[in-house]
Amino acid sequence: MKKRIPFFAGNWKMNKGPSETERFVKELATAIVGDEAVFGAVKANEIEIGVFPPFVSLERAKSAIESANALISLGAQNMHWEDSGAFTGEVSGTMIKETGCQYVILGHSERRHIFGETDDMIEMKMRKAIALGIKPVLCVGETLEERDKGMTESVVEGQLKEAFKALGTPQTFEIGIVIAYEPVWAIGTGRKASDEDAQRVCAFIRSFLESNFDSHVAQAVRILYGGSVKPDNAMGLMSQQDIDGALIGGASLDVSSFIGIIKNG
Ligand code: PGA
Repeated sequence: MKKRIPFFAGNWKMNKGPSETERFVKELATAIVGDEAVFGAVKANEIEIGVFPPFVSLERAKSAIESANALISLGAQNMHWEDSGAFTGEVSGTMIKETGCQYVILGHSERRHIFGETDDMIEMKMRKAIALGIKPVLCVGETLEERDKGMTESVVEGQLKEAFKALGTPQTFEIGIVIAYEPVWAIGTGRKASDEDAQRVCAFIRSFLESNFDSHVAQAVRILYGGSVKPDNAMGLMSQQDIDGALIGGASLDVSSFIGIIKNG
């Protein structure tokens, strides 16, 4: 077993309203309890399971988790860096915190590429989340074009440098920042990175943390892989030295495939 607690995080994207969320959480809680291996590992704090529903479903998810007495972490998929104000359509970190989120996904490639989020915006969100005590799951990853040009490491390094530029001290990481390596070309395509490539980039991220912060930070931070993770490819990924879990999109929408990944990982 690895020193870091593996984290299996379900990024639901724009799926599941409040009623479906409640049903899913109940079903997931029952599946966890019913599966001795998974339940034992969750109870012993050997693995962590988290769900990231849409904003409008967060409150329902929170109450379903509480009434099932389930050890399931909760996170949002995004947040704004200001507490309140004239930002039509946005939701702030203070709001998601009030709904019970421990985590927030920041810098997901769909936010970067479809909604034009810049490194600067992501950096402001990082600072705000940390100030509020919400653990960021910072996503980084290269496009296919960048990969083909051999730019994977430089793109990832650039994204990390920007996201952490105002977070100068190793103490910042004590909150439990998580980093997810998600190659853009692997997201939702069924084409996951090879275990070796995913490991290579996750090791690169760890070495970035070591050289920019310290070795304690590098050893403590959990680095997830994301991009077409499925029950039948989870084992190879999770056995890699520097991969501490998965950020799962499509396959997290169904309890049995989500549990399948957790068990195989
Ligand atoms: P996928 O999505 O598992 O559907 O590829 C992963 C993600 O976008 O976080």
